[in-house]
Parts: sequence; structure tokens; C-alpha cells
Amino acid sequence: MTNSTTLKYIRPHLQSLKPYSTARDELGQVKGEIFLDANENSLGGVIGRAVVNGRNIITGEIHGADDSNFPDLSRYPDPHSTELCTSVSRLPGVKPDNVLLTNGSDEAIDLLFKAFCEPGKDSIIICPPTYGMYAVTADIYNVATHKVPLQSDFTFDTETVLAQAKRSGAKLLFVCSPNNPTGNLVPKNEILELQQQFDGIVVVDEAYIDFAPPGSSLAQDAANCNNMLVLQTFSKAWGLAGARLGKVIGNPLIIKLFSAIKAPYNVNCLSQQILEQALERTDELKRQINDLNRLREELVSSLKQVPCCETVYPSSANYLLVRFKDGNKVFNFLRSQGIIVRNRHNEPLCENCLRITVGSDFENKKLVAFLNNFNE
Ligand SMILES: *Cc1c(COP(=O)(O)O)cnc(C)c1O
Repeated sequence: MTNSTTLKYIRPHLQSLKPYSTARDELGQVKGEIFLDANENSLGGVIGRAVVNGRNIITGEIHGADDSNFPDLSRYPDPHSTELCTSVSRLPGVKPDNVLLTNGSDEAIDLLFKAFCEPGKDSIIICPPTYGMYAVTADIYNVATHKVPLQSDFTFDTETVLAQAKRSGAKLLFVCSPNNPTGNLVPKNEILELQQQFDGIVVVDEAYIDFAPPGSSLAQDAANCNNMLVLQTFSKAWGLAGARLGKVIGNPLIIKLFSAIKAPYNVNCLSQQILEQALERTDELKRQINDLNRLREELVSSLKQVPCCETVYPSSANYLLVRFKDGNKVFNFLRSQGIIVRNRHNEPLCENCLRITVGSDFENKKLVAFLNNFNE
């Protein structure tokens, strides 16, 4: 792997960036006893567990704070989540320096623009219908978005994507797999072909990869690649959406750059601690993924019997894209009954389509019962 290929995609002024060094960074390996370096509150603050005068104290009332495992909220967290990165890297089978933990994938998307796109000059390619944050983040950074729609069967139009890439010199190409909202997995060899031909960074958003068959992820490929990054999240299969935890997987040069341009303490100590505990519960993760995949297939069969459903698209994720005769009417009817789904009618190729998250057995049965009662 030659780093020079990666380097040419990085914004020139960042190539010599001297990152902010936190108090903890400067400490290095030194073992301290009295920490007077970060202007924290030495009396422990107003809530939580802290160490004051060498003793554990609890201030305020916060559930779990009497547990000695509760993190000390008065102290800044590990700025690089170092130990966690090591644990997290084991699952996709990459090295710790191939992984950056982020405040959800949305932070990772933000970092991509910060690292690779000159505002007012550079551009990206997306293939709608897809996740909305790519284009919104591009707009925030004043970066142009070229849209190359998926083909009618939701597969990639590789030829047009590559032609657009040549014409525009786009810096980033977003591939969401399984794609939100269509649910289909993009075959690995198609993504690798794009990666080989695209003169820029291919970003593979694997937010739902845990629901796809094992071996579907491109994480290991990204770790050994000059121009590909994989984004994963703990928000979906892991059920930690509220804790805001995501990861970027890529070559060490890019990971080091991202680490230098992120906010210093991007993952807070409560989330770091929760993740540490979650990583020990992979059996529970597997059980819930199996259950959700089974519930999805049951929901597919039930929806196929519902008169107002025209098409239920196959999905490798925990949601289904469903085409109705009149999507807006069904959407409003469900809402009036207190069932909230996502209306995708205004997205390209998604006329009359709703995106429905796979619920619990009870929720899915309710949904199907309401849909069976729906008369146009
Ligand atoms: C939900 C979702 C995300 C966002 O993940 P967070 O980690 O919660 O920010 C990213 N990409 C896609 C495609 C998603 O559907």
C-alpha cells in the first residue's frame, strides 16, 4: 500500500496540520496521582461519582452512581478511546490503528467532508434513493452533490457513476450497503470494482451490515486500501442509538488524520463505558439479530397477503421498503392509528413507498391488522 495515493485526496492544508494536544495527550505514559492539568472540578462536581481527597464520593442522585463502576464524570474521558478501539477492532478483524470511534456515524460523515472536500470547489457522488445525511452534510460544507440514481431494480449504475466521476472529479462516492431505504445489499465485487476505478475515496456505509449474511462487510478490504472507508454504527443492531457510537474503518493514515481533525473528546465517558459492557454481550447481539431477521421474513410474508401492498422489496436490514397503491393515504391512515412509519414517496424510484422498521412480534401483527383493515 502506498500512502501517496491516499495523501493526494487529503485537503492540502491538512497534510501538515498540527493537531490540538489535550492535557491527557501530553501526560503520555506517566502515572499521575494528583491531576491539576485539565482545569476539572477537583471537588467532584454536582452529580455522579468522583474521587476527591483520594476517596470515592457520590454527589447528587444519579441512578447507578453508587456503583463503583460508574465513570467519574468530573474528569475528561480518554480522548482517543484507546482500549475500546482495540476491543472494537477485533470484531471486524482489523488492527486498532484501522479504527476510529465516533459520536455516531453522523460524526464520521462530517469528518469525511472536513478531511477531503474543499468548500466551494469539490464535489461528491451519491446514488439516490439513499441516506439523506450525505447530501445535507455536503450542503453544510458548500460541497456540490452529483446524483446518479440507482437503476429501477435498485442496483448501482456503475457505468454512469464512473462517467460522472471522470467528468466531475468528485472526491467522495457514497455507497450505502445495505442501502437505506431500499434494503438491498450491494454485492462486494461491485463495490470493489468501483473502488478500483474511482479516483477518490469510496465510502461504504454499513449501518445495517449486522443484519446481512456473515462475510458481507468490506471492513477488512477498507483497512488495506488506499481509497476506501467503511462506516459502521452501534445505533441499529446493537441498539445503542441513544449513546451515539459509530466507527470508521480504514487505512492507518486516514484514521490518524481523522483522529487529528475530530473534536478532542468526541465519545463521552458514559458512552465509552456502555460500549465496553456491550462488547462483552455478543451472544445477546447475535440472538437479537437472528430474531429480528426472522421477524422481518415473517413480516414480508404477512405483508405480501395484504391487499393494499403492491410490492414488498427484499431486505438485508431491519426495515422493509413497501410499495402501496397510494402510499400517502396509507401513511396518513397509519398515523391516525398511532403507527408511525417513514414516508419515502418523494424520493426517486420510491413513488408510493413507505419504509417500515421491523418491530416486535406484537407491533408487526398490529401493523398488518391495521393494513388489512385499510380501504381506499
Ligand atoms: C441510521 C443510519 C446512520 C446513522 O447512524 P448513527 O451512528 O446513529 O449516526 C448512518 N447511515 C445510515 C445509512 C443509517 O441508516
